[in-house]
Amino acid sequence: MPLVTTTEMFKKAYDGGYAVGAFNVNNMEIVQGITEAAGELKSPVILQVSKGARAYANHTYLVKLVEAAVIENPEIPIALHLDHGDSFELCKSCIDGGFTSVMIDASSKSFEDNIALTKQVVEYAHAHGVVVEAELGTLAGIEDEVVVEAGHESYTRPEEVEEFVSRTGCDSLAIAIGTSHGAYKFTAAQCTRNEEGILVPPPLRFDVLEECMKKLPGFPIVLHGSSSVPQEFVKMVNQYGGNMPDAVGIPEEQLRKAATLAVCKINIDSDIRLAMTGNIRKYFAEHPDHFDPRQYLKPARQAVKDMVAHKIQYVLGSDGKA
Ligand SMILES: [Zn+2]
Repeated sequence: MPLVTTTEMFKKAYDGGYAVGAFNVNNMEIVQGITEAAGELKSPVILQVSKGARAYANHTYLVKLVEAAVIENPEIPIALHLDHGDSFELCKSCIDGGFTSVMIDASSKSFEDNIALTKQVVEYAHAHGVVVEAELGTLAGIEDEVVVEAGHESYTRPEEVEEFVSRTGCDSLAIAIGTSHGAYKFTAAQCTRNEEGILVPPPLRFDVLEECMKKLPGFPIVLHGSSSVPQEFVKMVNQYGGNMPDAVGIPEEQLRKAATLAVCKINIDSDIRLAMTGNIRKYFAEHPDHFDPRQYLKPARQAVKDMVAHKIQYVLGSDGKA
């Protein structure tokens, strides 16, 4: 099947009590790792491109890589989504350039300005058969060019979501319930430590999610910043010459619970970066004489595939839902 929008995916996910993974893509190995896992597990999948990815790899290269994945995986629905569009022009460029979904992130603006910009993108997108994700509330952390300092994040206010969705016409809504961008989602001061000395982050605000669900029955909710920062990868990075102390993410069981509720899209980026970096560091340490990029990119791609397969089966619950 050709590239699809997320409309049908989200409807099935909402009714079925699972979520669709939205994985960030930056190069061929990442696109292949993600879509091979989704293809084998018969899972719908969202490939998302950030402004930074476009700057790195070029719009056309990324679209053509995703189109190749669509041809290679004809049995699963694949959506191509713009992650964190920050202007009408960027969203328009992606809508005109083959994306099936865009996010307009005006969450740092005032409520009224967020509505105005989101509505402008929705009108253009819907006229071109493309769906729109918007955001209310702000997440802490760093994602490409989106930087929100700790202490400046704010949870979504459930009393605002109904008015926001009805006035903008957006198709899905990213909310802030305590997830965070990057591999350092929480400071040590925000966490406790378990017996192994690993940081345990504060729990997600399921009360905020449930209030939003009540205000927007049947409406798909999105969670950003939802990598779990698996300690096996952090250990691997640190064991083979890296330095990532106290990297910490969102526990997978909390994401699984969110997926059974109104959360239909869960964004994962840092875990891809960690899987690749850990495995490339390991490969370099074990094979100092090798210099063919295929030699170390092959296990990196396999690590992405294994990680995504794990997420599909044990966190998202989207296996067999294609
Ligand atoms: Zn995000």
